[in-house]
This record gives sequence, structure tokens and C-alpha cells, in this order.
Amino acid sequence: MNPVTVITGGSRGIGAATARRLALAGHDIAFAYRRDHDAAAAVLADIEAAGRRGVAVPADTTDADAVTALFDAAAALGELTGLVNNAGVTSPIGPFVDLDPADLRRVVDVNLIGYVLCAQQAARRMGPGGAVVNVSSAAATLGSPNEYIHYAAVKAATDTFTVGLAKELAPRRIRVNAVAPGIIRTDIHTISGVPDRADRAAGRIPLGRAGEPDEVAAAIAWLLGPDASYTTGTVIRVSGGL
Ligand code: NAP
Repeated sequence: MNPVTVITGGSRGIGAATARRLALAGHDIAFAYRRDHDAAAAVLADIEAAGRRGVAVPADTTDADAVTALFDAAAALGELTGLVNNAGVTSPIGPFVDLDPADLRRVVDVNLIGYVLCAQQAARRMGPGGAVVNVSSAAATLGSPNEYIHYAAVKAATDTFTVGLAKELAPRRIRVNAVAPGIIRTDIHTISGVPDRADRAAGRIPLGRAGEPDEVAAAIAWLLGPDASYTTGTVIRVSGGL
């Protein structure tokens, strides 16, 4: 039986790199995205080119019914073995005093409530040997002052959620971990209003450059796989030393 993995936000960035890497490693993949149909079609084509089965589901992870439909679509591929909770958003970079309540609510909805809804579906459906990886952020410990401290706070909640869920599911032999990327070269920075943030930040990153999505995907793939069989409840930082 091949592993069957759900990835949220699989059409672009870290999620797309993870889908491509996992397909090459033998996973069948159901992934959610929201609106970029062309990007989703390109990822699906690469999954199939790797010889695996894939399904791309337009589903907003903040919508409980859409999340159920995503996991139902994955069930058609076989028994669920993995979840990568990745779909996340920031909001425009700026001082805390200017934070728009609508942006605050969206960040909480997508980065926390969406993760919890997806993990709940996974926990209901997975058997022993299953694994969840939550994509957190180095922001959880850095705090992101003058950028988006509300986003950093929600990513810290992701880490706590990871620790608690790992302990709750350990008796069922389901592992739960997180990856905390630093500054990675994806479109998320365009949405934050600073498209060249990855290049601008290079000087303050100890390794001297932003990370690439596949460098995060590598850690996610390790956490999902058998080499991480004794690893649960941990957060792996992939941040170039940041
Ligand atoms: P990205 O390039 O902006 O891609 C985001 C992906 O999530 C897209 O596939 C997008 O689909 C999807 N998505 C967004 N909201 C969604 C929703 N409500 N429901 C379903 N899908 C949704 O982002 P990224 O940089 O790869 O970030 C991925 C994760 O890594 C996030 O959790 C982010 O917080 C975290 N992270 C990123 C960085 C970084 O520097 N890039 C650093 C630390 C942590 P559509 O295109 O269809 O909207």
C-alpha cells in the first residue's frame, strides 16, 4: 500500500514543493488550494508524472464542510497515512497599531482554525503509523515586531497544538510534529506587501540567504517517513540559523 497524504495549500510555495517531493517518494496525494487553478493543475501534472495518483481539491480550510470534502476525496486514494497542515496566510506588513481586525481574524481562521479542522479529520481517519506535520514558523519564537506579531502569536499556538495533539494521539501510534521555516522564497511575501522580502532579509540570516521551498519540504518528508518513527511532539526549525 502506498502512503496517502493530504496537503493543504498544495498549489504553490512550500506546499507545492512538498507535494512534488512526496510524489517522488511514492505518496499518493490529495491537496487543497483556494483559487490558483493553473498552479494546482501544474502540481497535479507533476504528481502524475512521478507515477502517483493525485487529486486537487478547491477547498478553503476554514470551512469545515470543505475540509470534510477534502478528506473524503483523499479516502478515494486509500487509507490516510499523512497530513501536512500548510495552508497559511500573513497580512500586510506594518505596525501593530495599524492592524485591521479583518486581517487579524483571517490570520487566526486560516493558520489556526483551518489547521485544527484538518487535524481533527486526520485524527478521526488515521490508523497506527499515521503522521501529521504542521507548518509553523520561526516567527513563533521571534515575535515578528513591526511586521505581524498576530501571525507570530498564531504560529506559537500551532506549536502548542502540535505538542498537545502529539501526546493525545501517541497511544494510537500517530505522530504529530511541526516544521518552523524561517524566510523562504515564496509568493507569501508578495501578499504581505514586500515581494522582495526574501532578498532583503538575507543579511540578517546567519546562513546568508533565504531558504527554498524544497529545503522545507525535505524536513516535512523526513517527519512523515519511517526514519522519524521515534519523533513526535517536536518542532524542527528550518531557518538558516534565524
Ligand atoms: P504561499 O506561497 O502563499 O502558498 C500558500 C498556499 O496555501 C497556496 O497554495 C494557497 O492556495 C493556499 N491557501 C491559502 N489560504 C488557503 C485556504 N484558506 N484554504 C486552502 N488553501 C489556502 O505560502 P508559503 O510561503 O508556501 O507558506 C506555506 C506555509 O508556510 C504557511 O503556513 C506559512 O505561514 C508558512 N511559512 C512560510 C514562510 C515563508 O517565508 N514563505 C516562513 C515561515 C512559515 P491559492 O494559491 O489557491 O490561494
